[in-house]
Amino acid sequence: MTRTTCPYCGVGCGVRLQEGKIDGDPDHPANRGRLCSKGAALGETLNLDGRVGVPRIHGSDVLWHEALDLVAQRFGEAIETHGPDSVALYVSGQFLTEDYYVANKLMKGFVGTSNIDTNSRLCMASSVAGHVRAFGEDVVPACYDDIDEADLVVLVGSNTAWCHPVLFQRLVAAKQARSTKIVVIDPRRTATCEIADLHLAIAPGGDVALFASLLVALDNAGAIDRAYVEAHTDGLEHALNAARAIDVVAATQLQPADIDAFHDLFVQTNRVLTLYSQGVNQSSAGTDKVSAILNCHLATGRIGKPGSGPFSLTGQPNAMGGREVGGLANQLAAHLHFEPSDLDRLRRFWSAPNLATKPGLKAVDMFDAVLDGRIRAIWILGTNPLASMPRADRVRAALDACPFVVVSDVTDRSDTAKLAHVLLPAAGWGEKDGTVTNSERRISRQRALRAPDGDARPDWWQLAQVGQRLFGSFAFGWKNPAAIFREHAALSSFENDGRRAFDIGGLASLSDEAYDALEPVQWPVTRDGKTRQRFFADGGFYTPDRKARIVPTPWRAPVSVTSADFPLTLNTGRLRDQWHTMTRTGRVARLMNHTDEPFVALHPDDVARYGLTPDGLVRIESALGATVLRVREEAGQRPGDAFVPMHWTRWFTSGGAIDALVPGATDPVSGQPELKATAVRVAPV
Ligand code: SF4
Repeated sequence: MTRTTCPYCGVGCGVRLQEGKIDGDPDHPANRGRLCSKGAALGETLNLDGRVGVPRIHGSDVLWHEALDLVAQRFGEAIETHGPDSVALYVSGQFLTEDYYVANKLMKGFVGTSNIDTNSRLCMASSVAGHVRAFGEDVVPACYDDIDEADLVVLVGSNTAWCHPVLFQRLVAAKQARSTKIVVIDPRRTATCEIADLHLAIAPGGDVALFASLLVALDNAGAIDRAYVEAHTDGLEHALNAARAIDVVAATQLQPADIDAFHDLFVQTNRVLTLYSQGVNQSSAGTDKVSAILNCHLATGRIGKPGSGPFSLTGQPNAMGGREVGGLANQLAAHLHFEPSDLDRLRRFWSAPNLATKPGLKAVDMFDAVLDGRIRAIWILGTNPLASMPRADRVRAALDACPFVVVSDVTDRSDTAKLAHVLLPAAGWGEKDGTVTNSERRISRQRALRAPDGDARPDWWQLAQVGQRLFGSFAFGWKNPAAIFREHAALSSFENDGRRAFDIGGLASLSDEAYDALEPVQWPVTRDGKTRQRFFADGGFYTPDRKARIVPTPWRAPVSVTSADFPLTLNTGRLRDQWHTMTRTGRVARLMNHTDEPFVALHPDDVARYGLTPDGLVRIESALGATVLRVREEAGQRPGDAFVPMHWTRWFTSGGAIDALVPGATDPVSGQPELKATAVRVAPV
């Protein structure tokens, strides 16, 4: 039997392979044997067709050393001629932590640029920014056990039933066991609403206003924990003043009685858990949305206690592991900051000859820099930005114009792989070893179940080989993922006097065998053996004065506003049985049976208003472009809103990826693009 971890969502379920069958791991704390439809179909995706097989240069098969030599040569030439910021890596939440660690060390420590960003920028960058702004560090204070122990669970911008199904099952069980009250805040009436005591069909972008109004209601009701606020926080009065200036009914378009009902539930319940996801993060005000949620928990001291706290559900299996090693362009490894003392630490630990000293370009800006020629060589690993990025056609134009594009992927069928000058075959899930960290800070092993397909190699190996060619083997000479993990763990505790939460120094001396046998474990794991399930019940934040910041959150509308020309608001999101651009799940017939083609969901009133036919075809158009989809009439849609699943790409349709229509205005703090509020119009075809 081999135990590993599901590659799909941030729940991070344990799976096991025995006698040729994959099932849920009953000993993994994240899922206790449960799996959702996607996880249960993993065994059917082990043998993907369309694998790359061997490296290719301009479409011709070559040997690994030829491809790697060329990558190192062209990156080296760009660095030499145009400087370190002329090259970039764009990576993936599908990376294992070890892959991420090597990529960051290569770019930030040795090339000397922070131009490494990840598709996690589209997923949870606003949560990271909100955590850092409030807590001083990107720390998730809660854990999955809190779902079992809460009396009120507030789900914000999260179709948990479809996007984190195993946690939803746990929530259903908790509701049956202790009558947990559940509030769902979402413009759509999703499957998650089936267990809701209250559904608030909020206007897109209204979340800041709703949680700001909650902060005022908590104050008015005398529900602020004054002792906690005084001892452990700073800024409440400023936040309250900003909150009082917001017209919550206008911003949310909710009925006042429904807003009051939500306020009352929150005010009257001590054990409140707020689970939030992409409806919060994927917004031009994403960081403020996160802050508005954190503010309410900080002001009431409902944080870090059983059943209480704000809890970001990450989209990808290793969004958290990437953050731990500095996988975002504005982060450094081990939760270090771009400040002199931390830079000095990192420089000494890595013996880094050319440490990057400032943040790099975030995803949207990175592809703009490719388009205008500032970036002249880009290496894209484990992701398909031509399908997933906003302004996807602009990303295509950028890669078309880029002098040197390297793509590492499991498939040659992705839109992005087709534009590669050098295509490198990557080992996929079930073929490589490493670790991932799930939404509750739990580090789990991913283990190989079979040999890589063809001559595919893990991403960490590819990156380390280029690192060796550019900078020698002393810094990039790891023999296996265990060696990388040991270095990563040692860095986390290097000169860490307890002022950084992320510390897994207790795992820095694992032998290869102990690493291989590592059981799922939540961080921190310090050298003296200390672990923590939750953070901040007694303060102890990671700001200079150890106090949390309660931040003013003025409300602002989404950037793309509706008009007479574009009267509908487009929301994009996931379906129950598909993952990202369907590279794996699209190959499984029983998963495709759930929904076998893209569609646009509209309220029946809108179907009639725009002269559409249920199940007929519709042209949906934004200021950026148009595509043709099938009409799905759904009473759970908010009138005036349209929903389109994000999964289909050019590979599946002639119409193109829906993200080609999305302008992707970014949050000014997190850089996360707005993917859930684009002004569009529809017309029958
Ligand atoms: Fe995989 Fe997420 Fe489903 Fe668990 S809930 S089996 S991690 S997709």
